[in-house]
Amino acid sequence: MANSTRAKKRGQLEIPNKDLYRLAEKLGTPYYIIDERTLKEKLNDLRKAYSKFEGDVIIAYSIKANFNPFLLKVFIENGTWFDVTSPEELYFLKESGGDPSKVVYTSVTEGRGEYSTILKEGVEYVVVSSYQGLLHLIEASMEAKVNPKVMIRVHPEVHVKAEIKSSYGKFGVPFNGPSLDTATNLLRLIYSESSLNFVGFHFHLGSQIEDPKCFEHALEKLEKFVSRMKKEIPHLNVEILDVGGGIPVYYGMEVPSPTDIASKVVTRLNCLRRKLNMNFDLIVESGRYLSAEASFLVSRVINVKIYGRRKFVFLDTGYHQLLDSALVRQVYPVEVVPKGEKDGYKVVLVGRLCDDIDIFPLGPETELNGVEVGKLVVFKNVGAYSLVFNMPFHSQVKPAVVFRRENGEYVLARRRESLKELFLEEGGDLLRNFKKL
Ligand SMILES: *Cc1c(COP(=O)(O)O)cnc(C)c1O
Repeated sequence: MANSTRAKKRGQLEIPNKDLYRLAEKLGTPYYIIDERTLKEKLNDLRKAYSKFEGDVIIAYSIKANFNPFLLKVFIENGTWFDVTSPEELYFLKESGGDPSKVVYTSVTEGRGEYSTILKEGVEYVVVSSYQGLLHLIEASMEAKVNPKVMIRVHPEVHVKAEIKSSYGKFGVPFNGPSLDTATNLLRLIYSESSLNFVGFHFHLGSQIEDPKCFEHALEKLEKFVSRMKKEIPHLNVEILDVGGGIPVYYGMEVPSPTDIASKVVTRLNCLRRKLNMNFDLIVESGRYLSAEASFLVSRVINVKIYGRRKFVFLDTGYHQLLDSALVRQVYPVEVVPKGEKDGYKVVLVGRLCDDIDIFPLGPETELNGVEVGKLVVFKNVGAYSLVFNMPFHSQVKPAVVFRRENGEYVLARRRESLKELFLEEGGDLLRNFKKL
């Protein structure tokens, strides 16, 4: 019992070995699996973690982590909102049945044309991060004859203990400073502009956050700022506070649970509502936590080579299908299926790319006993920031994606790309069909 609770806490999705092999025969390897039940569990975990907040809590799924339409549909059906950063993501959401009025649109570039497009598509909540971007939004809203609800993305410049931190300058604005690009100036402009409705503030501190203190520090700074601005703009009201993403995922090392992250933050948020006398609602964004643990990458062992005490195991996958293993040396929990006996060798898992970086980093507790040609090797918790990075390096096709429904049924959620499709996509058809420019 203790064991199973622990496994559950770590979000370890279990799929019977015979199913993994059956799907491998049917689809070829590698392939990904996305599990509906785990997606729902993760969403419930987040809802529970923030349930003591005294206003409404909106969970917004960050589409950039994984935009597979089957996965989007699960979140749409279960009432989340969406954190969207491009018109292209918005297209995916709408085509999957999503509602643009439940979108928080946070652009990186904040272009004039982009804002026109998304406002015409029905987006209502827009997060601005620069003065020029706000001017673009004002022009776009006048052209579209709509009154968007605007949030200001602040960069609270607090210390963040996390794998990936939001960098200064590129994202958000400081509260104050010498340039126009400050929260103070954005707020003044929004309040002077009748086409816009100010609704609140947004920050996103980083991804895979290991210590919730950064949220508390950010809220302290925000409180001071709002109190000060209230003197200048007496009818200033915060209706929404968006605390961004960052809830961490189990990758082989213990991390705080959503409740560990949320509990102190919620207490502080409730205090803040009373102190400021503003009954704001809360938006919690999450990409990684909501999507990662629901997904496996299943690959096959193609070859094995012994070199001293080490056993090099060659897989039919590589960082073209798990980019973060190269980009940020992300460790994923990995298993050989079925497990075998210890043989005394230290396993080195290598990918199929001609590239020294294409060696998978392994956690200290990884055991890959009995790994041999033909067996499956499963990378776990890969649902976030992996299949969205698939690339055709070495003329490799995109793998299939399997969706496991809550009732245990497996359905195809993305076809394995054919080599011919890839050839044409890369310009192969233009060889015979010149396009004069
Ligand atoms: C990427 C991103 C998120 C999601 O972060 P996770 O660590 O995946 O939860 C949320 N909000 C914004 C603005 C982001 O850019």
